[in-house]
This record gives sequence, C-alpha cells and structure tokens, in this order.
Amino acid sequence: MSKYTEKQLESIAAECQEFEHIINAMGYGYSLLNVSPDKYIRRCTDCVHWFDGSCGIFQKEIALTNS
Ligand code: SF4
Repeated sequence: MSKYTEKQLESIAAECQEFEHIINAMGYGYSLLNVSPDKYIRRCTDCVHWFDGSCGIFQKEIALTNS
C-alpha cells in the first residue's frame, strides 16, 4: 500500500524534531495510544505532518537516503 518501506517511515520519524502523533494532535493525548510516548514506535504515517507523503522534511530525507 505504501510506496515507502516501514524502515524508512520509522527511521526518519525517529530522528525528526517535528513528529507529532495524529491522536495527540487531536487533543486526546498519548494515553489513548496505550503506550508511553517514548516506547511508541514513531512512524511518519502516524504524524500530523505526513499529508500522504508530501511532508517536506520527509521528502528531503528520502532524497538524501536515495542519493
Ligand atoms: S511526517 Fe514529516 S514531520 Fe512527521 S515525522 Fe515524518 S518527516 Fe517528521
């Protein structure tokens, strides 16, 4: 379904300063995820800035890793 690998989605989100989980952004807080924020596996696809892959930071990182 995704054109990006799980590894790409995780490794970029892991280092990204702008990551914000969509659930948290809705105002429910990380408690709804049933895991503490530091244990949760961050993925770009769960980030509020993802916009179906058009996140500028993500695109920049992908370009870097593909070069
Ligand atoms: S979607 Fe963008 S802002 Fe969100 S974690 Fe990935 S690179 Fe960072």
